[in-house]
Amino acid sequence: MELLKQLNQQLLAREERKLIRQRRTVDSPCGPRVTVDGRELLAFCSNDYLGLANHPGIKLALQEGVAMYGAGSGASHLISGHSRAHALLEERLAAFVGDHLESPRALTFSTGYMANLAVITGLTADDRDAEIFSESLNHASLIDGARLARASVKVYPHADLDALASLLAASNAATKVVVTDSVFSMDGDLAPLPALLALCEQHGAWLVVDDAHGFGTLGARGHGALEHFELRSPYLIYMGTLGKAAGVAGAFVAAHETVIETLIQKARPYIFTTAAPPALAHALLTSLDLLEGDDGMKRRAHLQALVAQLDEGLHLQRWQRLPSTTAIQPILIGDNAETMRAGAALYEQGLWVGAIRPPTVAAGTSRLRVTLSAGHSSLEVAQLIAAINALERT
Ligand code: PMP
Repeated sequence: MELLKQLNQQLLAREERKLIRQRRTVDSPCGPRVTVDGRELLAFCSNDYLGLANHPGIKLALQEGVAMYGAGSGASHLISGHSRAHALLEERLAAFVGDHLESPRALTFSTGYMANLAVITGLTADDRDAEIFSESLNHASLIDGARLARASVKVYPHADLDALASLLAASNAATKVVVTDSVFSMDGDLAPLPALLALCEQHGAWLVVDDAHGFGTLGARGHGALEHFELRSPYLIYMGTLGKAAGVAGAFVAAHETVIETLIQKARPYIFTTAAPPALAHALLTSLDLLEGDDGMKRRAHLQALVAQLDEGLHLQRWQRLPSTTAIQPILIGDNAETMRAGAALYEQGLWVGAIRPPTVAAGTSRLRVTLSAGHSSLEVAQLIAAINALERT
């Protein structure tokens, strides 16, 4: 069939550029040690930053949630899928990040991808002249949200405040929306949020902060990037994900109540999809207790110690460790094939590290993306350090 032949040719072209991706099937719960094809591997590639994905208390709460609310929600939030569990979680999340917002309210989503599509399209839905200002290293879901919105999009270079200031100053749009990751997912560095917020306030622009990798890990109480930078503003629109440090699944947007009401009324990625299983929302209440409490604090301290250990232990000559103080610790290799070889060699030794290529990162910047978790022991991190140091010299 001609159509299949076409697709096969396109796949072959990817293969030749070493861009074919493969899934590995995991037979164990997410954790520092996972089983793949009957082999136990030490994994440094999940976003389970605090080691909560297999936490007994959260699993118990999930079971309790199933007993209370059943398996599925049955409908979208605006029909009959909005359960008590979702409502309680929204209240809890609004309080969780509420210190940083004015008249805070929260809205939950089944995934961060959907939340980002919803925020960007919802904010710009009724203004065809709206302008979106998007940071160049933003996550794909923010890029796709901007594509889906019928607004003009200006991309500013990574962390380039002057470039953004010029774009904002040149804009006559009534609706201006600046969107940025807080922790860049493939680089691990932090966006200059205080300066970005000052610019947004000066130019009357919303600042949408995607804190997928900061929620739960940044700030003394794990409240995320806004707590870390001690920010507070009615211009802030916060997106946090619940499937990474929080260990479960889903996401939320927190902002001024008027923004949230706007999303409920206008954001198609919110309106036209089935609500997540309420049991997940119920389990997340336990997860938030853990994040905020002593347990979360200890986990964050251990994670920071592991980041410092990696920093001290890695001695690279050809490859380059990117300057990151977060759990995301990328090692820049550059070439696709060499990156894949490095990932495969580590895998052979029982160490699973993500090998990241375009289009996830720019051409010529392929990298190993090491992610650390509070679930790792320092012995395990020492094993990774020794393996990477040795591999780079071969
Ligand atoms: N934003 C960022 C920065 C992310 O890294 C991710 C997921 N990798 C998302 C949003 C999407 O979140 P989710 O996985 O919950 O869809």
